[in-house]
Amino acid sequence: MTMDTSDLNNSQGLEISIVIPVYNERENLTLLDEKITKNLQPLNKSYEVILVDDGSEDGSVELIRKLQEENPNLRLIRFGHNHGQTAAFAAGFSKARGDIIVTMDADLQNDPADIPLLLEKINEYDVVCGWRHKRNDPLIKKLSSTIANTVRNALSEECIADTGCSLKAFRRTCFKNIKLYNGMHRFFPTLMKMEGFTVTQVKVEHYPRLHGFSKYNIRNRLFASFKDLLAIRWMKKRQINYDIIEER
Ligand code: UDP
Ligand code: MG
Repeated sequence: MTMDTSDLNNSQGLEISIVIPVYNERENLTLLDEKITKNLQPLNKSYEVILVDDGSEDGSVELIRKLQEENPNLRLIRFGHNHGQTAAFAAGFSKARGDIIVTMDADLQNDPADIPLLLEKINEYDVVCGWRHKRNDPLIKKLSSTIANTVRNALSEECIADTGCSLKAFRRTCFKNIKLYNGMHRFFPTLMKMEGFTVTQVKVEHYPRLHGFSKYNIRNRLFASFKDLLAIRWMKKRQINYDIIEER
């Protein structure tokens, strides 16, 4: 994987970057584009939407190129293969020019109408996490998510209600010292807190997926993220913390 990192310390001239991983989401993209425009334009802020195509094979890329003809705020980053959601986020962050980075899913389970809510709170906090207080998912998924959040909070000594919600807002500096590994997008709030950033949560809407398919099942989410959780727990316990009281 090739990576290049824009300067996450310094402003790149835009107010907001919305970073969205896309993996076979063709049927959702036109409405997604419309809804983002509808909710962002009234804010009168400069923004870009970075669609990171994670190896789609359903014509998502062709549609994004078409949407770009009408919408100059749309950017496309395209992977040669499927590299996973964390990699897609990482690539998007590395290209983002906004002072605030908003993340969300492409499948319209998150609602762009909630973005202004997150932006309001980002004046007070470094990270604002969406909390899908009324989940609209199949029962098995809701159940596994409840278990995952409970175990995750217990083992990582955390209190985040819904870390799996992609809809979040970050100040761009949050990412400057964080090296991402596959699966780590589920732990952004904990990683940011470890860096000393402040984190809050706001209730957001959640809708059923109307088109396309979920890319996750019990094996590649619940079990995989349990192993990731152990890594995070280890990192948290081993975090270096010292105070220098003299230097001559
Ligand atoms: N996604 C991706 N690469 C992957 C898996 C998912 O870019 O390998 C994207 C997907 O297109 C969607 C978001 O990540 O925009 C969340 O995926 P999904 O909706 O399948 O997850 P769920 O809502 O079921 O947790
Ligand atoms: Mg989804």
